[in-house]
Amino acid sequence: MTTSEQWKELESKYYMFLVRRQPMVLERGEGARVWDVDGKEYLDFTSGWAVNNAGHCNEAVADAIAEQARTLVQTSNQFYTIPQLKLAEILVENSCLDKIFICNSGAEANEGAIKLAKKYGKKNKDGAYEIITALNSFHGRTMMNVSATGQPHYQELFEPIPTGFTHVPYNDLAAIKNATNDNTVAVMIEPVQGEGGVNIPSIEYLRGVREWCDDNNMLLIFDEVQTGLGRLGTLFGYESFGVEPDIMSLAKGLGGGVPIGAFLAKDSACAFDPGDHGSTFGGNPLTCAAAHASTKYLIDNNVAENSAKMGEYLGEGLKRLQADYEFITDVRGMGLIWAVEFDSELTPEVIPACNEAGILLNPMRPNAIRLMPVLTITKEEIDEALARLNEGLKNATS
Ligand SMILES: *Cc1c(COP(=O)(O)O)cnc(C)c1O
Repeated sequence: MTTSEQWKELESKYYMFLVRRQPMVLERGEGARVWDVDGKEYLDFTSGWAVNNAGHCNEAVADAIAEQARTLVQTSNQFYTIPQLKLAEILVENSCLDKIFICNSGAEANEGAIKLAKKYGKKNKDGAYEIITALNSFHGRTMMNVSATGQPHYQELFEPIPTGFTHVPYNDLAAIKNATNDNTVAVMIEPVQGEGGVNIPSIEYLRGVREWCDDNNMLLIFDEVQTGLGRLGTLFGYESFGVEPDIMSLAKGLGGGVPIGAFLAKDSACAFDPGDHGSTFGGNPLTCAAAHASTKYLIDNNVAENSAKMGEYLGEGLKRLQADYEFITDVRGMGLIWAVEFDSELTPEVIPACNEAGILLNPMRPNAIRLMPVLTITKEEIDEALARLNEGLKNATS
């Protein structure tokens, strides 16, 4: 039998070194938990980077994948296929958007959204093409999204990078107004910044941006790759703020674990003509069947509501921990995405101690961790997670 150490040797021999992995080799998942090759069980508060919203190996998703795998896996978009249309229908009928294009990842969804906005500018705004995005945003790793992302460290090594983006502070309406000019065609923001630190804006900000876009014939693009599909406690993040975007990108939580992305738009923003955009795998029957099953599961079981309730419960527990540990300087979150910030660079000690205690966490910053469990998590599992977190924090700092 191959041991954990042998798998790690294979990784360092064959795989590009791009991420400092946590040391366990994960083999199996179920619901809120995963198991490593040594049989150790963990509560997974990373959930595939905010992906496994319907729980690890959700039965409905597994059945849909298995059935579709024996029916039809791939054709091209030259033809109609049923899972693609069922997914389109469920997403459009349950959102404020009118049309969809399905692709394969979050970065690709944002690329499509950006192309759509630029085409809109060509058609409807004298060729306006500039897009305002926020500092500390995260929009993905393709060159266009590296430019869109308002974090210089993602950009510097890859210059020259595509132009046409202006970055302004998040949650600052005046900054957007000041950065707007005749060439501005869109504002692209996350309803809550995820990777950038779990930053929650005010309702007034998002409503103000909506109004500003309306008044200036600009499109509002919400990057809901992380906030969509129940993460914030509503099926889509925009519902939590009562602010409708013109274009919305989705990925992460969409596919129940399989790689899929999409961007949706209001009819008024649908500036594409045939041939303007496309994808070989985008909308393929296998991934669409998984995404449809996962989305249907989330809707039929009110999983977003569970996310809101369990989020509140998790937040209360984290705030109790903050009261117990002086080094915890901030606890913030919404739905089931939370950040815990420390007064110094404790993450490298906290993560292994928590792993040992049986909880997986995302090392967001040297001084902050991010918690994003599956959205089907129960109260008992959160109690267990808080106990393990407590044990990890105690052991890391004693
Ligand atoms: C993860 C993420 C992306 C990129 O998605 P990929 O599927 O990794 O390309 C884009 N935007 C946001 C808000 C994200 O959290």
